[in-house]
Parts: sequence; C-alpha cells; structure tokens
Amino acid sequence: MEELLERLIEECRPYTSLGKTADYIPELAKKSPEALGVYVIGSEGRHSWAGDCRQSFTLQSMVKPILLLQALLDNGAETVQSKVGVEATGKPFDAINAGERTLDSRHINPMVNMGAIVMCTLIHGDSYEERFQRLLALTGQLVGDSQVSIDQAVYLSEKNHGSKNRALAYLLKSCGILEGDVEEVLDCYFRACSIQVDCRGLAHMGAVLANRGRLPDSNQRVFPAPLARYVNAILMTCGMYDGSGEFAIRVGIPAKSGVSGGIMAVVPTRMGIGIYSPALDHKGNSVAGIQLLEKLSRELYLSIF
Ligand code: GLU
Repeated sequence: MEELLERLIEECRPYTSLGKTADYIPELAKKSPEALGVYVIGSEGRHSWAGDCRQSFTLQSMVKPILLLQALLDNGAETVQSKVGVEATGKPFDAINAGERTLDSRHINPMVNMGAIVMCTLIHGDSYEERFQRLLALTGQLVGDSQVSIDQAVYLSEKNHGSKNRALAYLLKSCGILEGDVEEVLDCYFRACSIQVDCRGLAHMGAVLANRGRLPDSNQRVFPAPLARYVNAILMTCGMYDGSGEFAIRVGIPAKSGVSGGIMAVVPTRMGIGIYSPALDHKGNSVAGIQLLEKLSRELYLSIF
C-alpha cells in the first residue's frame, strides 16, 4: 500500500499546478499550492500514508457531515429531514437556493451552507458554549484526536468575511426555517469550519463512517449504524459540491471536500481516506486530490458501483 501511495503522489503532484488555493479569506490563500498528501486507515486498523500528510488545515465544509451527525444523534432522522431535505441542489455550496417568494427547505441539503447552518440550530445543550463543546467532542472522536482545536486566525477571518453566509442565515430566518439567534448560529458555523485537522484525522473519520459508526482501533461504537447509512448516502449524492455526479462516475465512493483542499472519503466496510492538496478547481474541489482518488479507486477497485 505505501508503495502505491508514494507512486500516486508522484504521478498526481503535477496536477496541483492546474488549481488555485481558495482566496475568499487571506488565511487560506497563504497555503502552499503544491502540497499533496494522502493517509489511509483500513477497517482492520492498518495505517498507510505518503506525501505531505502531516500539514494541518481547517475542516471547512468537511465539518458538514459532523454537523449532520450531531443533529441526527440529538434529534433523530425524521426531525432532521423535516428541517432540511436530502436532494442534491446542482448549485454551488453557497447558492441562494430560493424562488421568487419562498425558500423550500426540501430544496436544500446538509452539505450546502444553508443546510449546514440549520444543522447548527439542532445541536442540543443548555448554552451555546455547551452546544459547541458537544460538537467539538464528537469531532474529536471522529478524527481520533481528543485535543482537536480551532485555528483562531481562520475563524476570525471567516467571521469578518462572512457576508454571504450572513445573507443565507438571515434569509433562512426570515422564511422560518432557522430558529434562534442568527449571529450565535453563524458563530457556531464559522468556528466549526475552522477546526484544525490533518490527513490522518480525515482518514480516521472516513474509517468510522466506513465501519458504520465504530472506531477503527477499538471497535467502540460512536453512533448507530443507520446514521452512517444516512450520512454516507448524502455524501455520495451531495458531498463534492456541484461536482458530485461526475465524482460518482470517476471515483464512486462517498466523500466530502472542503475549500481548504481536504477530501474525506469513505469506502464502506473497507477503509477511510484523507487527502490534502489546497489547489482547487472552479467548483472548490482539490484538483490533484480528485486525480489521486480516481487512480486509487481504479487500482484497488474501490467504486461501489
Ligand atoms: N467556511 C466556508 C464557507 O462557508 C466553507 C466553504 C467550504 O469549504 O465549502 O464559505
């Protein structure tokens, strides 16, 4: 496995020059665009890695499956689905997916910003701080690091450049889909996006989802198996922004990307994969990261189709 991963890093690194690091906040634009790393954790607990897999970066949209899981754990699938739908939008992640007069919650899903912002309102807890700490604790379990922390510079940058997300949240509020204090909900979303990880953490999270809720090393259950089916299904149809259909054809596994250049991928029953390469295509997906996953999928017959 190590040899294969080393070879794929060599083959895919040139693709980093075809993308651009996200520049909507200065903190992300500072990352080195030629970085490429991969980490794999098999269901039996074996770890393999290659390339720049020790660099840290923020979860960004890869926190969306965690927000969804927390909402499902706290409320059950029926309530979550009554708040936010499960259909792909075919639109960019921050699109204002509204008609002339109404915003229909069935037309958004938890992998686009509007849906993820609503998920923040479904976390249980007596205070905002308690709700956020519960989310952080679940994140720690999923990424296999109980010390998981926030990148303060990215968080402040997200908060100071968050006009679009504010617009989305206030629209949700005006349509009665978002309840509670909008600024507090947005703060939760910005902080959640700014949680720091590395490729190993993403691979660990992928492995828990691949093992349908059990930790790869101890087999301890973090969440019930039906929730893994819910999350993995939505990752398959909506996880790679409005490039999810093409990704399903080229790679064929549930995955979630983020504008930091990470990809968290799930091979049900077999492995979790974490990728980092911050040069993105115009949809917000890592160019070299997708190339690497496509080649890995072919070599190891990973596609579920
Ligand atoms: N913090 C980013 C935003 O909400 C996350 C975007 C992403 O990774 O897709 O705009």
